[in-house]
Amino acid sequence: MKNNSRYTRRSFLRTLSYSAGTLALMPAFKSLAACSLPGKDKRLGIALVGLGGYSGGQLAPALQETKNCYLAGIVTGTPSKADSWSKKYNIPDKNIYNYDNFDSIANNPDIDIVYVVLPISMHKEFTIRAAQAGKHVICEKPMALNAGECAEMIAACKKANRMLSIGYRLHFEPHNIEMMRLGQKEIYGKVTSIDTGNGFTYRGDPNAWRLKKALAGGGGLMDMGVYSIQGSRYSLGKEPLFVKATEEKTNHELFREVDETVFWELEFPGGILAKGKSSYNNNWGYLKVKAEKGTFGLEPAFGYGGIRGNSPAGEMNFPQINQQAFQMDDFARCILQKKPTRVPGEEGMRDMKVIDAIYRSIASGKRERIV
Ligand code: NAD
Repeated sequence: MKNNSRYTRRSFLRTLSYSAGTLALMPAFKSLAACSLPGKDKRLGIALVGLGGYSGGQLAPALQETKNCYLAGIVTGTPSKADSWSKKYNIPDKNIYNYDNFDSIANNPDIDIVYVVLPISMHKEFTIRAAQAGKHVICEKPMALNAGECAEMIAACKKANRMLSIGYRLHFEPHNIEMMRLGQKEIYGKVTSIDTGNGFTYRGDPNAWRLKKALAGGGGLMDMGVYSIQGSRYSLGKEPLFVKATEEKTNHELFREVDETVFWELEFPGGILAKGKSSYNNNWGYLKVKAEKGTFGLEPAFGYGGIRGNSPAGEMNFPQINQQAFQMDDFARCILQKKPTRVPGEEGMRDMKVIDAIYRSIASGKRERIV
């Protein structure tokens, strides 16, 4: 098949060398090879906290591919999981914890990083406990129930002199990195508008934590909308000032505690508008950016793989990578080299401020300032 794309191997390498926009001061992401550091003994040990779908399906397998870190320990409230995981991943008993004895992880030199992969209401507690135990932390998205909690988590990690990062895997994904480059470097002129949506049709357990306000903080907006908010922010490299949002609910029984579908419009400096939507009842996953001299976008935009993109230069023919392996290896490299991570707690808090303002706007029916 003829490929008219002007994307080449060189443009792929250039994309990888591009550091995410608002974080442009951070060290460049040089190449695939630069991501790994020599010396097996230098690999950092990661303990996963919460052995649910994401830990089992993505993170543990990715940790079999990482070069700078490895799966050293687990924290689980379910003894049968402790058993099966220790067999499957060869984890010694001394590196297995439950939620009660978790703090004694402070005395375990095998564990350098704690990765919090729990329901959202537990992110703050386990991030702070991990930092106080002297461990660096990766916390899954969305960072916490609200921006106030994020601030507490950031402060606790600073106080303990530990690094905190958020599981924003797409900052390591070539197509999404290309969106940052095209938008922030104004390759096709200034960005004039953005349109993005993310969601899936929820068919899971009606009693799951994702549908409980106390555990999840919200519904599709917290879980899926955070990617669209991120996408708008990193395609532009600016922070939104105001938002106006509305909610739509068709299944009042299933989604009685949390939002089903939310629509919003973010106002960025210069009057640039970013339309966004999130849902637990629609299959969306796109990010489209209009600039003065052309349109570029991704669809699917936010998945673990299968990401496709187009710009006026043609189809983006970048490889699909193991995003989680890159994300974790990069954090381990940052710790080993004492460099800042491109996805720190502050980046998670910026999204939570937007989410807080979206919920305020839904409640007030007014345009709300993002503070
Ligand atoms: P999950 O329901 O599959 O797993 C949650 C885990 O938490 C389970 O092991 C469960 O036993 C444990 N848990 C502890 N206390 C609990 C309680 N009180 N109620 C319910 N479960 C409890 O969830 P998941 O899909 O693995 O999501 C976990 C986190 O990872 C969430 O923050 C989610 O947003 C995030 N996540 C991120 C991605 C990504 O692409 N970055 C993908 C999926 C999930």
